[in-house]
Amino acid sequence: MSWGDTFKEAGNWIKETASDIVKVVTDVYNKVKEWFNEEVVGRIKQVCEWFKEENIANKPQLVTDGKIYINNSNSYKNCPDTVKNKIKSKTFTAKEKKEINEVIEKYKPLLKCKNHPLQKIARTDKAITKNGTCIAESDTMGEWLADQNALILTDSASTGLDFKDSSKQFRGTVAHEISHALMNNFDPRTCSTYKNELKNPLMQEYQKISGWDKTGTTLTETQKDKAPTDYAKTNPSEDLSEATMLYLYEPKTLKSQSPKRYEFLKKLFN
Ligand SMILES: [Zn+2]
Repeated sequence: MSWGDTFKEAGNWIKETASDIVKVVTDVYNKVKEWFNEEVVGRIKQVCEWFKEENIANKPQLVTDGKIYINNSNSYKNCPDTVKNKIKSKTFTAKEKKEINEVIEKYKPLLKCKNHPLQKIARTDKAITKNGTCIAESDTMGEWLADQNALILTDSASTGLDFKDSSKQFRGTVAHEISHALMNNFDPRTCSTYKNELKNPLMQEYQKISGWDKTGTTLTETQKDKAPTDYAKTNPSEDLSEATMLYLYEPKTLKSQSPKRYEFLKKLFN
């Protein structure tokens, strides 16, 4: 074989190999294009969402044993087992999980402390009300059990009257309850825990700007700044929870109802 033949053969080999490579690359490209259909894009988005959620430091855990916290809470220690046994634990639906995660994402600026009290979020069908006697009832939408570090959401969490849309109502309920958890006996600005809300500088400041007296018993509304909802008139902590719910889900309403509350929360959430 002459040098010329060798070169010719080498040339052919390169040509064939190159066309093989082009073929392989084209095949891979087509396969990848096929894989990247909507379903795959959807999955990638899901993974990104998951990563974003898991990335929140000190994120509360979604648990499935809600009944235990109600049963163990000091709030209901005198309630008979016959009433406690009427409460059933439930698991969160995928939709509820997504909605809770959305609220938690909004609360990110207030979740910076490792020692914040909101450790668990749980789901039950009903709650207990103590009005002299203990009753298992389905009116309570949610409850913060401070001694259990657990927030309970019930079947009624999405059926309130604050918002027409039930999904928005559910998120509003979560926002309301998380406000109790993170701001009543705790100051997320300084990571400090207090025996009660009257001792909490955050609550003291809120009472001052919202028109509550120092003991938290009398609310004085002004022409410009009114209670955000009727329920907010119950006490300062309900006032703050209602205001926070509106700040996160109906900011325009809060701003027009009470610019002072709106500004307070804007500063807190930034
Ligand atoms: Zn409340």
